Amino acid sequence: MIASRRAVLAVLAAGALAGCDRPATLVSGGTVTSATPHVAAGSRTPGIVRPGAPPGAPAATRAQVVARYGHLRPHAWGFGGPGVVRDLPTSRRVIALTFDACGGPGGSRYDQALISFLRRREVPATLFLNSRWIDANPAAFRQLAGEPLFEIANHGTRHLPLSVTGRSAYGIGGTRNAGQVYDEVAGNQARLTRLLGVPPRFFRAGTAYSDDVAARIVTAMGDRLVTFSVNGDGGATFTPGQVRSTVTAAPGGSIVICHMNHPESGTAQGIAAAVPRLLASGYRFVRLSDQLDGRISPSS
Ligand SMILES: [Zn+2]
Repeated sequence: MIASRRAVLAVLAAGALAGCDRPATLVSGGTVTSATPHVAAGSRTPGIVRPGAPPGAPAATRAQVVARYGHLRPHAWGFGGPGVVRDLPTSRRVIALTFDACGGPGGSRYDQALISFLRRREVPATLFLNSRWIDANPAAFRQLAGEPLFEIANHGTRHLPLSVTGRSAYGIGGTRNAGQVYDEVAGNQARLTRLLGVPPRFFRAGTAYSDDVAARIVTAMGDRLVTFSVNGDGGATFTPGQVRSTVTAAPGGSIVICHMNHPESGTAQGIAAAVPRLLASGYRFVRLSDQLDGRISPSS
């Protein structure tokens, strides 16, 4: 990871974030800065669908995804499904704290108190960033991306539930077909690849909901679809006490979902109360990539 971080810093120093205030665009392939091709090429497993894909690009093209999955009907909806990672492959006292930054109207603030606490206590975490949040917080993104304590992951381009039929979650209409599933993943993936110099390893859908066909598409693109096993802040609605009690009760191997885009919520205070308790009980915290393989060879 040291080489990757060096690459990040090199990219940042080169001004690769200049496009941060542009609206997100949907593209069909990733681009990689020329400064780090060796890092990008070594960080992902070539997909069987598209073995010649450029470094950092999805393992399948949009046309291939539409051809293979466009006619399939979903049978499941929720936080599970084929290839979906809900917890860590361990029962030891290890917990992955993950924080979503969903972006968009009402969702683009930055919980600096939360991040400052994690830095102060040197608590690693995985940050799922939506493209719209990056638009609104270019300086914060730049700083977070340069810190080894934090792993940057993909929280989508428009923050849509991942559906092939337009199914909604929490009143947010989902993607409507296989092509839109591809766009939701690939748009922000291309952007993060450009900004970080390496492709993000993990994807979480807006609202974390997906259907089983969409989950298979994410796998075919070479990404790991991650949801959670513990809802730590109730979508940034919990009081500090609720966050503290919920996170403190997380068993070993948990992936805890919270939010870093609602500084008015109880999340920061609750996390600050839970972490010392968990550390005192012998728990340690990891980034997802510390426990999970990254990008994958599609098999479905
Ligand atoms: Zn979100």
